[in-house]
Amino acid sequence: MATGSVEVVYRGIFQKNLAKNICRGVVFAARKEGKIGIAFGRYSDSPERNGIPAKQFAVVADTEEEMEEYLSRYEPENNDVTIVADDTLCKGLESWGWNGLQPINKLLKAGGTLLVTSTRSANSLIRDIHRKGAPYNLAIVKGPASFSGMWVYKDDHSDVRLLGALAKVAPHIVSLDSIVAAINEPKKNDLKAASAKQAYDLVASMEVDANQGNDAVPLKFELPGWTEMEECLVIRGRDVKQEVPGWEGGFVPGRNPTFRKFSTRTMRPVIDFDTCTKCGFCWLQCPDTSFDVAPDGYYDANMEACCGCGICEAVCPVEKCITMVNEEAFTDNQSQWQMWSKDKKGYAAWRSEKTSAQPARSHGFHHVGQYAEEIADEHR
Ligand code: SF4
Ligand code: SF4
Repeated sequence: MATGSVEVVYRGIFQKNLAKNICRGVVFAARKEGKIGIAFGRYSDSPERNGIPAKQFAVVADTEEEMEEYLSRYEPENNDVTIVADDTLCKGLESWGWNGLQPINKLLKAGGTLLVTSTRSANSLIRDIHRKGAPYNLAIVKGPASFSGMWVYKDDHSDVRLLGALAKVAPHIVSLDSIVAAINEPKKNDLKAASAKQAYDLVASMEVDANQGNDAVPLKFELPGWTEMEECLVIRGRDVKQEVPGWEGGFVPGRNPTFRKFSTRTMRPVIDFDTCTKCGFCWLQCPDTSFDVAPDGYYDANMEACCGCGICEAVCPVEKCITMVNEEAFTDNQSQWQMWSKDKKGYAAWRSEKTSAQPARSHGFHHVGQYAEEIADEHR
């Protein structure tokens, strides 16, 4: 081996320290093997924003010359492993530059491994992951995504479990022994070492064919070349209202067509129009002006614009009228109000199915043994 690299894709702020722990762990473990390593965040992700997809990288090389050669580019584009810290990112990611949706496997090299933290099956994840056009491997570390705040890390062992699994899928980058040695410095930690070893033993991997996966064309925009940019900073205003054919009497706010935020979502609101009183609180309080006012006065959360903050659910005065549901349950961004208008019984059944399958609201692990309980069914 000459060089190897690991890309960690995560939710900005909420998983920043998780990503940092993983990348730092790779570098420390590589040093145990006499290699050199470096970890860094993607330049354009800084400053990070809540939930907006971001990246960090860890690069390992045998010699300084190889490292210098590898780093003489903007960011690693042929990664041996892409670690996905939240499985809803399998739908693709947009940086806060909002320049289009990038498939989660885009910077993974052919034959590399996409390593995902998830409680879902491989087939269910592949449904979301864009086709790569080259074969690769999909490995799953069973467990829910770990989230916390800006300055803290929820120490649920997600970092060491991902490091243990990494040693299994890419032993040419770091071995399990070096990962365990790095975990035990500066202070021995048998519990974390055991978690890394357990993930190493349990991680399941499968091959994904070049043409398997989501065949949708990822959203992209024409970006101006530097010769086409206008002098000085120009921020074009938007019309206050968009005209939508057939929406007489409704109101759809003007939105920047290149500013869509759905890849920031881990959950989305599902609305019960049968109990909605049209009070308008959700519309007023939504920080992203994501609600469209339908011609009949109902409020429809626009799924191209919603960032999944959950404020509408919190302010809605009618019990269970808005329910936040994990993003994994959906395959498109279609209008709920239109579904409901066309077929009220069908929509009620759809809504009931989506909201009843709702996983625990809070992410991560909360008691000793929860991990074993959650994966028990998978390994029975
Ligand atoms: S979750 Fe609700 S309040 Fe938050 S952006 Fe989406 S529609 Fe608006
Ligand atoms: S806050 Fe709830 S009841 Fe009020 S308009 Fe929105 S969905 Fe309907």
